[in-house]
Amino acid sequence: MHFVEYMSTHGHEELAVWTDPAVGLKAFVAIHDRTLGPALGGTRIWAHESEDAAIADVLALSRAMTYKSAAAGLPYGGGKGLILADPRTAKTEALLRSYGRFVDTLQGRYITTEDVGANARDMEWISYETRHVVGLPESLGGSGNPSVVTGFGIFQAMRACAEALWGSDDLKGRTVALQGFGNVATSLAGHLREAGATLVVTDTYAGALERAKAMPGVQVVEPDAIFDAPCDIFAPCALGGTINERTIPHLKAAAVVGAANNQLADEQADAARLAERGIAYVPDYIANAGGVINVSYEIGRPYDRAGAMAKAAEIHQTAARILADAARDGVTTVQAAARMAEERIASVRAARRA
Ligand code: NAD
Repeated sequence: MHFVEYMSTHGHEELAVWTDPAVGLKAFVAIHDRTLGPALGGTRIWAHESEDAAIADVLALSRAMTYKSAAAGLPYGGGKGLILADPRTAKTEALLRSYGRFVDTLQGRYITTEDVGANARDMEWISYETRHVVGLPESLGGSGNPSVVTGFGIFQAMRACAEALWGSDDLKGRTVALQGFGNVATSLAGHLREAGATLVVTDTYAGALERAKAMPGVQVVEPDAIFDAPCDIFAPCALGGTINERTIPHLKAAAVVGAANNQLADEQADAARLAERGIAYVPDYIANAGGVINVSYEIGRPYDRAGAMAKAAEIHQTAARILADAARDGVTTVQAAARMAEERIASVRAARRA
């Protein structure tokens, strides 16, 4: 791939590279767009098969963060970090602190947090070298577990969907199928049960299923059976790519709203397939924005949980607008969401130039 050409055609501002052979570190930070504010996004720790694959990944992920923060109404741009290493074996204090020094050289243009392969302890090590890190443990004044706010935000997106589909945002008596019963799904399930919804749950991990079975009124099914489960809303809360050409024909739901990043295997084609089947879809980065909203309430001030929850509640209006725009203009919700984010960035850019 010609990365510089790719960056210039996809709007990227910067790609920074850092190596520290003494600690075995090779790392990248991609900054996509800072029109709305400093670039915010997690650091992924992953042993890609090649440097090219790692760079392609970090560039694509940084761009996705621009859209996520823009659509969520946050004053942040899109960025992403990537440490090219196996998270199970390579993580040491020395490596994470070297990475922290790298982030510090960017002087606040990029603010990092957790992503796949990283955890709160890694953020703590990074924080010994830079203040441009969030997602710290609560014991250090950070926001701690983001799933509480993420789950609440997805619940709001589901309510918006219910209103668009059935004329009321009340989820009482509705059935929600949860694919994956980890941190976010557990938080989401609490809100759904409180609202009087019925749950059908699956997970590939026995411990998660035991927790689900202990909840009254929760039906547990095998992982493959979840796609055929009769339900009103299907919630992908495990890994990405589970909504695809093969699974969409099986869905019984009237809507897909969930936590997983990159839920659609092929974003444009699968959004069109869902629309063709009349299944409403709240784009993943709209529904799961509670995660980035949560850490953003840690930037430059003591963490404010109430502020983060209030901002996550706005996902209700954002999802409603995207569903309405898509219906009005005959486009998919994926297209409507991207357009909304792009319009916000363009208007701020234009005002700045004026
Ligand atoms: P988690 O690891 O706590 O939970 C995921 C669960 O999915 C696990 O219990 C796992 O066993 C299960 N699972 C994996 N493959 C499965 C399959 N094929 N079928 C059924 N279950 C399967 O993760 P989480 O923090 O709850 O996050 C869930 C998803 O939401 C992830 O894709 C994550 O990237 C995304 N997300 C999370 C947050 C957050 O705040 N934690 C924010 C934004 C997006």
